Amino acid sequence: SFHMINRLRYTEKLSLVGQLATGIAHEIRNPLTVISGNLQLMNKQPNKRDTVPLMLEEVNRINEILSELLYLSRTQPPTFEKYDLILVLKSVVALFRSQSTEQPIHIHFRNEEEEPLLIWCDANRLKQVFVNILRNGIEAMPEGGNMEVAVLRERDGVKIQFMDEGVGIDVNDLPSLSMPFFTTKANGTGLGLAISHKIVEEHGGELGMFSRPQRGTMVVIKLPLRSRVKEKQGSLPINGRTSQS
Ligand code: ADP
Ligand code: MG
Repeated sequence: SFHMINRLRYTEKLSLVGQLATGIAHEIRNPLTVISGNLQLMNKQPNKRDTVPLMLEEVNRINEILSELLYLSRTQPPTFEKYDLILVLKSVVALFRSQSTEQPIHIHFRNEEEEPLLIWCDANRLKQVFVNILRNGIEAMPEGGNMEVAVLRERDGVKIQFMDEGVGIDVNDLPSLSMPFFTTKANGTGLGLAISHKIVEEHGGELGMFSRPQRGTMVVIKLPLRSRVKEKQGSLPINGRTSQS
């Protein structure tokens, strides 16, 4: 009956909350243990300041985890506007090119589209997605390598491919990748893909991962040119350049 289905969903939700809470508690307890241990040490030997940078690092880590969590749990809907996707991608690529990495990384941007490529999107949130994915690609290439970002036009949407030459993904890990807190990295939060998935879905798009262990990974994001969700509601802020074609 209807009631039963509701109950099941409720139980499912509770178990999801439980899993998340376990993940959060675990992630935050580790840095707290480090801070607490060092503070106790300093309490006995007030002159021992050399662990302060370490403690600050752990505080930063807690902060990072919390801000990513807030991002994930945000219930505010995105604010859509007609924005140039190429501009968003180029700014993220430029950001990574300007950051120095320990390993040599080359980012190639391939755009076969006429510019600008206007799509209905929340540009800030899309930027967050592209940052997460590029960062993962770079982190997958500890010895350095090439990262390619390609934009391809499809019939009623656009496809963006991010290809790296990194370590790849174990086939057993594939189903877990977008689960909050799933990480194979010593210092990962495991929230980047979960956030990215959520944002792409908000845009009515899809995010797919293809990988060959030791060869590389390709992340494919498909976005509709116009947000199907918002279109139906007809509540878009119309500015001068917005056409309804
Ligand atoms: P984090 O980067 O903090 O680990 P993410 O949600 O961004 O969290 O990624 C989750 C996991 O997915 C990573 O730990 C890694 O195992 C895998 N992964 C994501 N992108 C790539 C990639 N480009 N190459 C190899 N593994 C990846
Ligand atoms: Mg990541």
